[in-house]
Amino acid sequence: MTTFLDFLQRQRAFLLTGHENPDGDCLGAQVALFHLLRALGKQVHIVNPDPIGKAFDFLRRHTPFGHARGDDELPEFDAVVLLDCSQISRVGALGQRLLASGKPIGVIDHHVGSEHGDGTACFVDATAAATGALVRRLYRELGQPLSPAAAEGVFLSLIADTGWFRYSNADAEVFAMAGELVAAGVDGSLIYDNLYRQNHPESAQLLAALLARHRLLLDNRLALCAMDKALMERAARIDFDTDAVLDPLRSLDGVEVVALLKERYDGNVKCSLRARRDIDVQAIAATFGGGGHKKAAGATMNMPLQQAEAAIEAAVATALGDAARRR
Ligand code: 5GP
Ligand code: MN
Repeated sequence: MTTFLDFLQRQRAFLLTGHENPDGDCLGAQVALFHLLRALGKQVHIVNPDPIGKAFDFLRRHTPFGHARGDDELPEFDAVVLLDCSQISRVGALGQRLLASGKPIGVIDHHVGSEHGDGTACFVDATAAATGALVRRLYRELGQPLSPAAAEGVFLSLIADTGWFRYSNADAEVFAMAGELVAAGVDGSLIYDNLYRQNHPESAQLLAALLARHRLLLDNRLALCAMDKALMERAARIDFDTDAVLDPLRSLDGVEVVALLKERYDGNVKCSLRARRDIDVQAIAATFGGGGHKKAAGATMNMPLQQAEAAIEAAVATALGDAARRR
């Protein structure tokens, strides 16, 4: 922590970034860190590899978000801070440009193994429920009060990664923080409405189509849903959040792992894994070069969709077998 605080205090101009398709934790943590660094008198720009989705537009009330693709111009910066991931490879083409700049890279992250990423200075804790919770700790350490904007950022991080306080990572720190943030003026229902109540009219049909495609495998212990390019294009056109299929599948009695496979424009497959009980999907994702947390993980698989489906089924079968042997 001290070395990381030194890193923040030493540099003058920061570029904050995060993983491709930034989620609520990544963006919320960026909001909170943006306002912390500004309060410390620093120059700060948020530049992500992808634009923020419409659902997150409400954050622009208080925080400017930029993104860079191709050779879009970047603001001046002395240091990078990577939030909610630790590897430059997760930042797409922008990541390679940041690496080539030779500037120091700070990492704030809560994923397994993030101390072994590309950070030259790290503030990491895999037991933290969200990256935003780590930024909250930085405020405390520096004796800085949380502004209403920063409080909203931290709250967004918490709800994104705990599924609105439902997952097993919703620990005492999370609930204590939530109380404090609401007392500081955070409006949870405004966030909820922005995130989930602006869906395109065709979203219900697409959700139905996706759920209709799921397959139950391995004695109903694996629920697998594969989205080919056509479905992915349909989703992109209406800004559909594909995570919407995860919870209905995870709710099925007997299902222990949910796998959502998304065929990308380059032919690779982005895989999202979710677990119930004691299956470690982080370990499964790691066998494909990915990572994450025990109960939520992902990977990019360099193979065609059908092959990826078979590979995931085999990997989950092995993990279920290993878990049974451990019992
Ligand atoms: P999601 O399925 O929502 O994309 O990701 C679930 C969790 O796994 C998140 O914490 C995310 O950061 C992590 N994750 C997803 N994809 C990858 C990946 O390709 N590599 C690594 N290391 N982690 C990933
Ligand atoms: Mn996170």
